[in-house]
Amino acid sequence: MVTLLTLLALSACAAGPAFHARQIASQPSPSTPAPTPSASPSPSASPSPTARPTPGSLDWYVSQAPTFPAAPPPQPVPLPVTGPIPFWHRLPTDQKVAFITIDDGGLARPPAVADFIWRAHIPVTMFLNSPAAEEHDVYFRQIQVAGGVVENHTIRHNSLAGRSYDYQKQEICGAADKLQTLFGKRATLFRPPFGEYDSTTLQAAQDCGAKAVLHWSETVHEGKVRYQTPEKVVQPGDILLMHFRPALMDDLLAALQAIHRAGLTPALLEDYIR
Ligand SMILES: [Zn+2]
Repeated sequence: MVTLLTLLALSACAAGPAFHARQIASQPSPSTPAPTPSASPSPSASPSPTARPTPGSLDWYVSQAPTFPAAPPPQPVPLPVTGPIPFWHRLPTDQKVAFITIDDGGLARPPAVADFIWRAHIPVTMFLNSPAAEEHDVYFRQIQVAGGVVENHTIRHNSLAGRSYDYQKQEICGAADKLQTLFGKRATLFRPPFGEYDSTTLQAAQDCGAKAVLHWSETVHEGKVRYQTPEKVVQPGDILLMHFRPALMDDLLAALQAIHRAGLTPALLEDYIR
């Protein structure tokens, strides 16, 4: 358990995703039952050193993950002292980092995701709908153990733009309360469903504990990155959006490869928005 905690501490530091992959490959995976310190590693976490992984297997995904330079020590972005909390498509940073986010949670939850995130050391932020989080809490807790952070994406996933303050606050605070109960941490980031929001959303999110409301810069679906600018390259501070869908393993890999091509390193949003 000491080793696990040490590794978890390492996972929160600035080193890039694949940096620790070889070191932690033989450690217990997040999907291994946690409470017993003597729990042995899951078979899938102990690849034979000489075997070539089968394409599509967890070992294969780990083997395909790029090796990144160490991420720079995070310099948190400035937050306004007064007035509304910010709404960002990308973080205002020049540091050579980009951010991976995974939304929703109700549609599909590929079983190898937590182990992939753990073994390839992928920093992820999950914007969850609270009913899906509650129904599948063990799944999301495994990703949390692997280093993922849970944030707020409302209860019902309805568009908030134009709705009353009371409605928006109920959707945002209601989800924040439930997620805090489930995962032991108050959400500090909020993403509105469909990215649709208004000034009331910013106020309600702030009143529910959010420090920023986030959109995204790129989307990833079925292993393809879709850029919203003609340069087709991930920029420093960009936020990549994917979902808990059947191809999430491919989406994670595609995001890592795109970030690597851009000369950036994946980092954790929560290290930059404090
Ligand atoms: Zn969503």
